[in-house]
Amino acid sequence: MPSLNPVRGTHDILPDDNRRYRRVEETAYQVAERFGYGEITTPVFEFTEVFSRTLGDTSDIVTKEMYTFEDKGGDRITLRPEGTAGVARAYISNGLQQNLPLKLFYRGPMFRYERPQKGRWREFRQVGVELMGVDEPTGDIEVISLAYNFLRELGLSDAVTLEINSLGDAETRQAYRETLVGYLSSHGDALSEDSRERLNRNPLRVLDSKDARDREIVADAPVLRDSLNDRSRSFFDEVLAGIESLGIPYTLNPTLVRGLDYYCHTAFEFTTPALGAQSAVLAGGRYDGLVEQMGGPATPGVGWAAGVERLSLLVEDGEPKRRPIALVPVGDAAGTEMIKIAHGLRAAGFVIEMGYSGNLAKRMKRADRLGAVAALLLGDDELARGTVTLRDMDSGEQSEVPLADIRAPLEKYRS
Ligand code: ATP
Ligand code: MG
Repeated sequence: MPSLNPVRGTHDILPDDNRRYRRVEETAYQVAERFGYGEITTPVFEFTEVFSRTLGDTSDIVTKEMYTFEDKGGDRITLRPEGTAGVARAYISNGLQQNLPLKLFYRGPMFRYERPQKGRWREFRQVGVELMGVDEPTGDIEVISLAYNFLRELGLSDAVTLEINSLGDAETRQAYRETLVGYLSSHGDALSEDSRERLNRNPLRVLDSKDARDREIVADAPVLRDSLNDRSRSFFDEVLAGIESLGIPYTLNPTLVRGLDYYCHTAFEFTTPALGAQSAVLAGGRYDGLVEQMGGPATPGVGWAAGVERLSLLVEDGEPKRRPIALVPVGDAAGTEMIKIAHGLRAAGFVIEMGYSGNLAKRMKRADRLGAVAALLLGDDELARGTVTLRDMDSGEQSEVPLADIRAPLEKYRS
């Protein structure tokens, strides 16, 4: 017997949940479209190097979280853990550098082997945007503005906080890395094992640690902002001035570093206190070195990704359900006729529910439960007269309408 539970960390998305998911994803797409973004869909799996070479071999994603396997042809394949690497690969594969600046939106499932919790899955969905070919702060400002508009449209602008930091350019990070290693080394013994490991390989990631002892030490660490060189500082100031001018509130978070190695300059997250440790609903930043590191032409980029499950937990309503018109046949002859009527009305764009079986009362009850806006009742008498009874389900009013011209009186019930 196969196990009848879904694999740990995966979940079925039932129709009501999907309406919430669709609202999140469609809102993201529609807002992105208003900013001139087009949708790209890349494969759900890629060669493992697409991720291992870009995410950095010290990131949690690469060291612990990837679903990697060898396929029957002997290729090393990974289920994508995030969207940016695949988009950057597609950018190179398709020669899209001809089209800069390039503005792309994506949505779809991502896979990470992590400990499942509320808002943390092994298969989860993201929506995201990438703006490629803009190395000015205006690019950072645009994608943050897009993110904010998206969250506002979901009714979440008061429920989330924009946290922002700058990682500076390569020179800044090098200088800061030394300062930070000096500080952290003096606390070496008190750090968690994970962080002692990171200290040598990727010390900035210690700032990201969720370990309570680490966080105490990190609280007094020298801040990156003080190490920003002039170029990085003025870049960051321009970004902050831009989002201020748009009226987007933010807080500076000097320990926000993002887990991925290819980020530089702006790093940001929209967070919520409502989801416990899964506080980030949308996260992004600038990744100027990524495409080149992958073997493509040097191309700056900035973007973000948002977790659809986490946002769905926060939004009040899903996509509204279209109210159906219920067809209620009474008798065998009427049943056959109803199937034809349903066929024609559906082709004309109406949402039609058929009462499959049961007596009149049972079918009317079902129509009610489905939230039907109207019902069409067809019995043998009506059939003989070439008419059908139309019942408004909200007011209870009924009228007899000719079968031959059934669409006209139904127009007002089109949902
Ligand atoms: P976290 O710190 O919560 O692990 P992250 O930094 O790994 O998040 P990103 O790689 O920035 O997350 O992904 C962007 C967004 O995708 C996150 O802000 C979150 O909303 C969502 N997300 C990430 N991992 C998961 C997961 N395992 N399950 C559900 N949503 C996730
Ligand atoms: Mg994570």
